[in-house]
Amino acid sequence: MKNIRKIVSRIIMQYGTRSPFQICEKMGINILFVDLPDKVNGFFVNSAENGYRSILISKSIPDFKKEEVCAHELGHALLHSEINSILHENDPSFGLKKFEAEADFFSNLLLPKPNSNSLTQKSKFKCLTKF
Ligand SMILES: [Zn+2]
Repeated sequence: MKNIRKIVSRIIMQYGTRSPFQICEKMGINILFVDLPDKVNGFFVNSAENGYRSILISKSIPDFKKEEVCAHELGHALLHSEINSILHENDPSFGLKKFEAEADFFSNLLLPKPNSNSLTQKSKFKCLTKF
C-alpha cells in the first residue's frame, strides 16, 4: 500500500486547500461535468503521450457528491497514473478492489467527514478499468 496519508498531507500543504476542484485546477487536471450513464458517477482519463488529464463527473449527481467523486478521481490521478482511464459503476461485480480502496482512502483523508468511519466504510464507487 502506498503511503497515502503522506501524499494527502503533502498535497494539502503544497496547494493550501482540501478542495479537490482547486487542487485539480492547480495541477492542470481538467474537470468536465457531463452526461454519463445512470450508474456512472465519474471517470478519470489519463493520456500519457501528451500529459492531458481529465476528470469527468456526472452532471446529474448532487453537488456534495460531485466533490467526493472528484476527490476519489483525483486519488486515481495521483496514485494510479499507470492506468489510462477508470469508469465508475455502482455494480459491485466490476472493479480492481485495491485501486478502489486506495482512491476511497485518499478521498476520505482529503474530505474528512465528522460522522463517518472512513476505514470501515464500504467502498462508494466501483470501477471498470480500461487499458
Ligand atoms: Zn475509483
